[in-house]
Amino acid sequence: MKELSEIQINQFQLAVLLDEEERHFYNVVVESFIYCSQCRGFAGEGVEVESIYLDSLNDIRVEGCCRKCGGRVARLFEFGEKKEFQEKACRFRESIKQ
Ligand SMILES: [Zn+2]
Repeated sequence: MKELSEIQINQFQLAVLLDEEERHFYNVVVESFIYCSQCRGFAGEGVEVESIYLDSLNDIRVEGCCRKCGGRVARLFEFGEKKEFQEKACRFRESIKQ
């Protein structure tokens, strides 16, 4: 299997990729469970997501800043481990190919 490229996606594309359960998990994590190294704990006021990537393993990586201190944060969502998500991500990659 050839290596996949990492692609940046937008909020709408993310919404297409996630099912209801994944969407819920994503929202909960972004609001309360992303570690901020400046706060030395979870970003309790949530995270302002600035960039979203579908990485080479079809996991979702988000980057942004902590709403409390403004520190840089990032978090990997290992959705690529799920077969259904993997298939959805591959179809998505096909659909955006030029
Ligand atoms: Zn912080």
